[in-house]
Amino acid sequence: HMPTAELQALDAAHHIHPFSTQDEIANKGVRVITRASGVTLTDSEGCEILDAMAGLWCVNLGYGRDELADVAARQMRELPYYNTFFQTTHVPAIALAAKLAELAPGDLNHVFYAGSGSEANDTNMRMVRTYWAQKGKPEKKIIISRKNAYHGSTMAGASLGGMTPMHEQGGLPIPDVHHIDQPHWYEEGGDMSREEFGLQRAQELEKAILELGEDKIAAFIGEPIQGAGGVVIPPSTYWPEIQRICDKYEILLIADEVICGFGRTGNWFGSQTMGIKPHIMTIAKGLSSGYAPIGGSIVCDEVVEVIGACEFNHGYTYSGHPVAAAVALENLRILEEEGIVDKVREETGPYLKEKWEALEDHPLVGEARVEGLMGTIALTPNKETRAPFAGDSGTVGYICREFCFANNLVMRHVGDRMIISPPLVISKAEIDTLVERATMALDLTFARIKE
Ligand code: PLP
Repeated sequence: HMPTAELQALDAAHHIHPFSTQDEIANKGVRVITRASGVTLTDSEGCEILDAMAGLWCVNLGYGRDELADVAARQMRELPYYNTFFQTTHVPAIALAAKLAELAPGDLNHVFYAGSGSEANDTNMRMVRTYWAQKGKPEKKIIISRKNAYHGSTMAGASLGGMTPMHEQGGLPIPDVHHIDQPHWYEEGGDMSREEFGLQRAQELEKAILELGEDKIAAFIGEPIQGAGGVVIPPSTYWPEIQRICDKYEILLIADEVICGFGRTGNWFGSQTMGIKPHIMTIAKGLSSGYAPIGGSIVCDEVVEVIGACEFNHGYTYSGHPVAAAVALENLRILEEEGIVDKVREETGPYLKEKWEALEDHPLVGEARVEGLMGTIALTPNKETRAPFAGDSGTVGYICREFCFANNLVMRHVGDRMIISPPLVISKAEIDTLVERATMALDLTFARIKE
């Protein structure tokens, strides 16, 4: 390939990056990734980097699995494309839906395909409103979500999400979306215990239902663990109370499993880890380990019985794309046959937890938590009060991320919080390397801010 500097110049001239400033791209230059294997990326300079984010939380199976490439090539030759509209389908879409129904808990037996998690959440918004309209309650339209949630980048996805900068830029949220506070004990819990706080935050749902009118609420949506919001692991009291309230008021419950699904938390779905019984689950990312773009909604019997009585006027050209579906099916086969989800729950998850939580001894770390292979550390100038740094949030997190990068570790920062979500195939030795490099970055950050 071309020399790195030329690639960077072309990129700056022609490529608009998501979630970046173009100035930063032009002035600093991007890192160009050229190959990857297992948990290791290689850049255009030949530098090897441990990817503790599995790309964007998606390469659950790790990079470079030939089986997925072979399946994709085979499927491209046999049937590269056909649609699933108008009473037609194809073998990969059928087989994958059946497999997902088998893996999903309870009576989540039906799949509507999308090309991404954002699209799947658009589907969910349309589907729950269609459900209530079919039941003769078209006024039940409002979807309740949480501040600081992430549900995607489309107009509906970003509206369901609770990221203020996304709302401000796009004139969002669209009507009939309401946000309640998040169960973020570390930053917002004050003097309350985690459990008390979790309960209080869940009860905000009940308050919102009563204020907005029970007869107007269609659904509640939440990530079992908020990912892009900073890996917010909710107090143990939170989800049981949310479930109780949804059951009491007959509100549909949507679990956004785009990050938590497919083994991330040590079970197939985050809902199982958190004890949630959703009517609909949003899936994407780990479904194909990111090898092909595919997402969807796994939907319970009752919702399908109701919406099935009408034509659901919704669908995407790539709903159930045969190559993506074949790749996803192969990905699930390997995750299952190699016992990777069990390994996260029983071996690598507990191993990471022990090492990661020990980082709480570091002078810069106020909290270090893990669920499965999803981890977070809060950087703080004061471990006792959990105070944030003075000045703009994210300044120290950014410094730490840059030190990680310089030490060949991809770790993301959300404000002044560092997060990880490595491929699920990470070994114990690679976890050791990850934690060593993270510690080095914390030491360097600590030294820098003392200057
Ligand atoms: N939902 C959650 C919880 C996510 O984390 C994401 C992406 O990060 C999405 C939805 C959107 O998925 P996509 O980027 O595939 O559209």
